[in-house]
Amino acid sequence: DVTNTKGNSFEDFYLKRELLMGIFEAGFEKPSPIQEESIPIALAGRDILARAKNGTGKTAAFIIPALQKVNPKINKTQALILVPTRELALQTSQVCRTLGKHLGLNIMVTTGGTTLRDDILRLNETVHILVATPGRVLDLAGKGVADFSECPMFVMDEADKLLSPEFTPIIEQLLAYFPTERQTLLFSATFPLLVKSFMDKHLNKPYEINLMDELTLRGITQYYAFVDERQKLHCLNTLFSKLSINQSIIFCNSTSRVELLAKKITELGYSCFYSHAKMQQGHRNRVFHEFRNGNCRNLVCSDLLTRGIDIQAVNVVINFDFPKNAETYLHRIGRSGRFGHLGLAINLINWNDRYNLYKIEQELGTEILPIPASIDKSLY
Ligand code: ADP
Ligand code: MG
Repeated sequence: DVTNTKGNSFEDFYLKRELLMGIFEAGFEKPSPIQEESIPIALAGRDILARAKNGTGKTAAFIIPALQKVNPKINKTQALILVPTRELALQTSQVCRTLGKHLGLNIMVTTGGTTLRDDILRLNETVHILVATPGRVLDLAGKGVADFSECPMFVMDEADKLLSPEFTPIIEQLLAYFPTERQTLLFSATFPLLVKSFMDKHLNKPYEINLMDELTLRGITQYYAFVDERQKLHCLNTLFSKLSINQSIIFCNSTSRVELLAKKITELGYSCFYSHAKMQQGHRNRVFHEFRNGNCRNLVCSDLLTRGIDIQAVNVVINFDFPKNAETYLHRIGRSGRFGHLGLAINLINWNDRYNLYKIEQELGTEILPIPASIDKSLY
């Protein structure tokens, strides 16, 4: 259950009236469990390491404290929110703007794939909260354009991804621009051990929140179908005709397969967009916005979109290609079943995936069942 346990309301956090207005206008009635755990601790100024399952409202759990703490009268960047992907940066900045709409703050998003010069111009103005991906913001800090010398708050969403070997050196360099007296908040659904050494080095007696005891994939019915590689498209076609898809995300394991499949799906007569890491960023953003606005029913993509993306209308996720590990599986499947909605996940399994299917099931302690002849609509 994603509704809270302690019966707290947002009023109990003594937030600014303008912030409460933004929260209520966003349609949030009560804090979710992760929000009721982390908001008071973050407001008290402590470092946090928070783990909670997908779709439970982690974004607002760090954005609400950030919005509360930032002083609009101080013309400095007072919070940096770091996320691993560009789409997630856009989405997060939108949440920030929605919840903070009455606060009079300047919120800016900066990611790779856009012109650096525009960002530099925009940073000439006061930016109170910066939402960013690592590479670009390090660039801006290095050029002295983004100034974090007095920035009291550093947030990492999907923190385990940001602390993977690919990003860690960037994060380390970036932190050198921050004061040592700062608040650091780490959020994710998965926290492997490598986060530990970062925590020991950079966090100050972090308060640890772990809301992962409950089954992570609750609300999502998972099925598999054994299919030969050559029959996958035919199988997908059958699924399209049988399922009540509101919106679906279809995952492939490589960019070339993404494009190919999207083409095939279009040929079958279904509306379909695709997105992958090798596409130009402007194009990627347009696809993401259009899909989000419901202008297309199906989206084919690679793992680019697995993390953090929140589109409540997605009720079906299809692994056209089965993922290699449990973590990827979890993040992909978590794109449906957001905030207590139900969802359906269907995995196309070829001969080589058999062992992986078993392994992932074991690792996640979940059940992936053979697909029945007909699927009850009330499950998703
Ligand atoms: P997570 O980061 O934990 O995967 P998100 O922050 O993306 O989850 O939130 C998932 C969805 O839940 C979003 O659509 C968000 O608007 C909604 N949501 C978050 N908090 C609340 C709340 N307190 N009440 C109602 N809806 C909420
Ligand atoms: Mg998230």
